[in-house]
Amino acid sequence: MIVGIDAGGTLIKVAYTEKGVLQFVKYPVAEIEKVAAWVNGLDNSKVCVTGGKSGVLLSLLDKKAKEMVEFEATHHGVQFLLDRMKREEKEYLVTNVGTGTSIHCIQSNEQVRLGGSGVGGGTLIGLSRLLTGVTDFEEIVELAGSGSRDRVDLKVKHIYEGKEPPIPGELTASNFGNHLFTACGELTKEELLAAVVGLVGETVSTVSVQAAKQCDVDIIIYIGSSFIHNPLLKEVVESYTILRGATPLFLENGEFSGAVGAMSEI
Ligand code: ATP
Ligand code: MG
Repeated sequence: MIVGIDAGGTLIKVAYTEKGVLQFVKYPVAEIEKVAAWVNGLDNSKVCVTGGKSGVLLSLLDKKAKEMVEFEATHHGVQFLLDRMKREEKEYLVTNVGTGTSIHCIQSNEQVRLGGSGVGGGTLIGLSRLLTGVTDFEEIVELAGSGSRDRVDLKVKHIYEGKEPPIPGELTASNFGNHLFTACGELTKEELLAAVVGLVGETVSTVSVQAAKQCDVDIIIYIGSSFIHNPLLKEVVESYTILRGATPLFLENGEFSGAVGAMSEI
């Protein structure tokens, strides 16, 4: 069996083939010992690991495993998953919204890391917990999905009252900037969580579009577990990317890019 493992800051993503079929599984990073025990119990396996926690995982393995730089693994995995979707893009930006956000330009079959942002999936969980006490990711995204950001965020059109704004009025002028002092005590969890998702999604897409312009590509491929079961984040990122002038693409199983790419090293 060929196994690729991307051990990230929050989740461990595992990709492997079973009877020729590609399988995907993920575990919280707290279960890294369980993942190691599973790998240790495999017969005739070839394993390649990547991600920030790959050193910890390797130290728990009692068999040899290859190691791959995370950004290269992700690049290869994205190409594989694009092929699987029958897409033919060759030049694009990859924005990986993991615990943090990492941005890469792919041109001439090479990836260059352009930068990133500390605002990512970790921010989504951390701020949500601080503001509402909700800790479970699935619950956060479900509640956020039914919240409105109207009382929390300030839009450009709200500032340009009675006047045509010089930039799209629907852009957010200030996340969490809508005179909160008047409504603060009465804001619901749903409203606050929707605003957190908005803050993360708009920050991620804004820096991505700027990076895409910097390396002269139009398509931005978004990956990372932050988008799992999270239609609101997808919607924010999709609409904001289009509003700011680029083309978004969400990769099927994109959160497994690093794990799939690690498999290709074997
Ligand atoms: P990094 O690449 O930054 O080291 P990572 O690879 O662990 O981190 P991902 O797995 O791509 O990052 O994404 C982690 C994010 O996915 C979390 O911060 C959270 O927002 C979201 N997420 C999705 N499902 C879960 C889950 N079951 N538990 C915790 N977070 C989840
Ligand atoms: Mg990662």
